Amino acid sequence: MAERLIVIGGVAAGMSAASRARRLNPKIEIMVFEKSGFVSYGSCGLPYFVSDVIKAPENLVVYDAKFFKEKRNIDVYLHHEVLKIFPAKRSVLVKDLERDKEFEIGYDKLVIATGARAVKPNIKGVDLKGIFTIRFLEDGIAIKNFIKENSPKRALIVGAGYIGMEMAEALVSLGIDVTVVEMMPNILGSMDDEINEIVEGELQRNGVKLLKSTSVVEFVGDGFVKGAILNNGVSLDVDLVIVGAGIKPNSEIARDAGIEMGRTGAIAVNQRMETNILGIFAAGDCAEAFHLVLGRPVYVPLGTTANKQGKVAGENAVGGNAVFKGIVGTAVFKVFDLEVARTGISEKQAREEGIDYVSTVIEHGSRAHYYPGGSKIRVKLIAERKTGRLLGAEMVGRDGVAKRIDVFATALHARMSIDELTQLDLSYAPPFAPVWDPILIAANDIEKKLKS
Ligand code: FAD
Repeated sequence: MAERLIVIGGVAAGMSAASRARRLNPKIEIMVFEKSGFVSYGSCGLPYFVSDVIKAPENLVVYDAKFFKEKRNIDVYLHHEVLKIFPAKRSVLVKDLERDKEFEIGYDKLVIATGARAVKPNIKGVDLKGIFTIRFLEDGIAIKNFIKENSPKRALIVGAGYIGMEMAEALVSLGIDVTVVEMMPNILGSMDDEINEIVEGELQRNGVKLLKSTSVVEFVGDGFVKGAILNNGVSLDVDLVIVGAGIKPNSEIARDAGIEMGRTGAIAVNQRMETNILGIFAAGDCAEAFHLVLGRPVYVPLGTTANKQGKVAGENAVGGNAVFKGIVGTAVFKVFDLEVARTGISEKQAREEGIDYVSTVIEHGSRAHYYPGGSKIRVKLIAERKTGRLLGAEMVGRDGVAKRIDVFATALHARMSIDELTQLDLSYAPPFAPVWDPILIAANDIEKKLKS
């Protein structure tokens, strides 16, 4: 009988694992259990689906279950939730959610790719209609339908992370008045103030009200949400709420099976994406990743990492020897006309880690000063004082930020020093960059500080 690979979860990590395993082994039986009604879609596109830039939910789906069966001989079971893993028996307990039936099925290799879920804080009234989290395609569809049917006028976004920012833009584009509340004194988690102040200016410019150091203590309504009471006693009239208050790894079924968790609460894996139990791999938002700058496992759940980890898990599940070395924490998002990006660690993180660092902030044009369409890019760099090694970069601007950050990400992977960074032969032509690119201006500036 052919060996059987079971994959739990069918989005970025799960379908990457299944597809890679199939490519390397045409004989193995591959089953994917997915509790929702969709596989292989880009959650990252959800804000653009809500804003109607992307019209139909199918547009976010890369391949459907039929494609996987016909083209890759992968059996995808939608609406099937894995309830338990029995490592000793090498089997899983699955619930067919549509037929309300449970069954147990054996595996030879198992990939856990259960992702993460949005945290819905325990606030009075949080279950009123009109209050949503945004994580799965079904969430996007529900929000879009709610907006169509109820034409909300005033939205509240709880949490000023990157998803909160993307959703603020989406809702403003639909003519909805948006307020964002953030319980921390700053937006965007560990991003530094010099970047955040520009993002806050962009929110203001687009009519978004931002309330920092503020939290919701109660939602009120009569079936549908009508208002939110804040910790300072202020009441807001709102008829749509998006909670973007963070996510949690779906690691419970793994933990219950005796699989080791990391300090972050996500599944601990090695470079081969193996868990502590032989034959069981984990990948994506349910698992940790090794941070190459910090030198320890972290929980930075992103689609890029999920795809790569899934590919490595799938390859090794069929006897390969692939490794995923780690991440440097690279991320980018768009809010209105701004591109905001980061890689490595911020100054806030360097301080928390007790690292002796030097930092600099510069502003420079994105194109030759005489060429139309350019604008200023603000760059912040962090370097280790003793070694001169680059530790992190943050950038914000209206033009040419998103892909420039990848130069710094590559430098971090290569453990480059600032001196090496200043030597880079970067491209130049007036429509794309000034002769001294903002990357080099920033590198030269921090080099002066390192030498002084
Ligand atoms: P998930 O996408 O969470 O998929 C896991 C799947 O497993 C789910 O479908 C779930 O139903 C299923 N599952 C869970 N438990 C079980 C079970 N017991 N049995 C069966 N099935 C189960 N990342 C970026 O890199 N760039 C971006 O711009 C970006 N933007 C984003 C915007 C939004 C609005 C959101 C929500 C996310 C964004 N991300 C972005 C993050 C990215 O979408 C995730 O990192 C990625 O989806 C993780 O893939 P995954 O397969 O690990 O997990």
